[in-house]
Amino acid sequence: MTSALTSDSDTATTLTADQLNEMRAEARRRSAGLIDPCALNRIGCMPFYPEWATAVLGRDFPGVRWLHSWEITLLDMALDAEPNRPTPAAVRERQEKAREDHEALQRAAADAYAAKEAAWRQLRDRLPITVSVGHNWTLGHWESGYQSGREHIVAQEDLYLGRLRRKAKQVFCETPAKVTSGRRNKDPLRGVDRDDDGEDRIPTCKACLKVAERIARPTSKINDKEF
Ligand SMILES: [Zn+2]
Repeated sequence: MTSALTSDSDTATTLTADQLNEMRAEARRRSAGLIDPCALNRIGCMPFYPEWATAVLGRDFPGVRWLHSWEITLLDMALDAEPNRPTPAAVRERQEKAREDHEALQRAAADAYAAKEAAWRQLRDRLPITVSVGHNWTLGHWESGYQSGREHIVAQEDLYLGRLRRKAKQVFCETPAKVTSGRRNKDPLRGVDRDDDGEDRIPTCKACLKVAERIARPTSKINDKEF
């Protein structure tokens, strides 16, 4: 789309004032107050910057729909006369700004993800058993309204902690009553990947995270793990 546009000038058009004046007079003559449908079609399809059209028209480019018939002819003639249209400084600034905004957003998203990942690793290290993170592939998962996220914490060892019991491969939020009651063959957790190591995943299931927080060792005791 922008291949015909060069970027080595700060002007919107390389056409001179004399050339433009001549072209404007010619366009008025040619159009004779009538819209040229071919010209209209061409200026609707060809890429040009509004700054370029403004320089050619000699007034703010109002958009193709609001052009006078002779202006349509004029823009069509100018497109022919200047196939390599310069990229004005304002456009380059706009493009640069858009690129910077995009990069800033990407950086912020990456930072947020890294922070979440670090928080999860810290919580995982405080858990009394080895766990993994499994994606829940169950269709209709959202309809069940049971889990709050797609990534669940899967116990990789049996866990017996007071009244809390999870066998290896069971999901932290998986209570027998909730999974089976009234949902025969509709267990919303049947699609959890229980064997994935989940190294590239962060749990999003709030119920799982709540259980994990409850059974995690206090932060200050992380270094006492072996005792
Ligand atoms: Zn869960």
